[in-house]
Amino acid sequence: TRFHDLDLREEIMHGVAEAGFEYCSPIQAQILPHTLQGHDAIGKAQTGTGKTAAFLITIFNDLLCNPLEGERFLAEPRAVIIAPTRELVMQIAADAEDLGRHTGLNTVALIGGADYQKQLQKVSRRVTDLIVATPGRLIDFVERRDLYLDRVETLVLDEADRMLDMGFIPQVKRIVRSTPRKEDRQTLLFSATFTPDIMNLARQWTFDPVTIEI
Ligand code: AMP
Repeated sequence: TRFHDLDLREEIMHGVAEAGFEYCSPIQAQILPHTLQGHDAIGKAQTGTGKTAAFLITIFNDLLCNPLEGERFLAEPRAVIIAPTRELVMQIAADAEDLGRHTGLNTVALIGGADYQKQLQKVSRRVTDLIVATPGRLIDFVERRDLYLDRVETLVLDEADRMLDMGFIPQVKRIVRSTPRKEDRQTLLFSATFTPDIMNLARQWTFDPVTIEI
């Protein structure tokens, strides 16, 4: 599959072309036809498969195709990506900057161990469309009411198996509970392994998902 065949918004095609992508990777070819239609998905994929571009393209295309009517408020992101480590969050945010360069959408990264006030300034100065965060720091923002997740349209849980191994599931559960119910949001879950624990969480958090294994 070529990206040209996916009928993506032109602003995204621009970023895709600049990144040098022409053909979809296997996971992108399998998952995008479903996720671009708004369906939930559970993806078994390691790093290096192109899963990041798969969920970023899904989010950007949805946000551009469905502009919100009326006033937008600060601190009400339309999409949230949760990942287990700071490094992964920074990598995803950098990819979002690249792929989303021509979309006009704003991404903010929230990570632990970095200055809270500086991150707060970023979400308070202008409307944030996409938040990429580690679980603990995102909980801090939600509990201090510096960020509201009740308008989230797309939720991505990346490297769910590592979040489980690192003991983050209670925090992730709280975050998921702060978003709209699963019938009213799109949820994409990625994991390198499909253990029974992961599949249990996936069943709780997703609604009628497609399952992709590569
Ligand atoms: P990821 O699995 O998301 O960590 O991505 C692995 C690498 O593959 C990244 O450096 C991406 O820039 C690159 N990549 C993702 N999708 C494609 C594609 N369709 N064609 C070529 N490179 C890609």
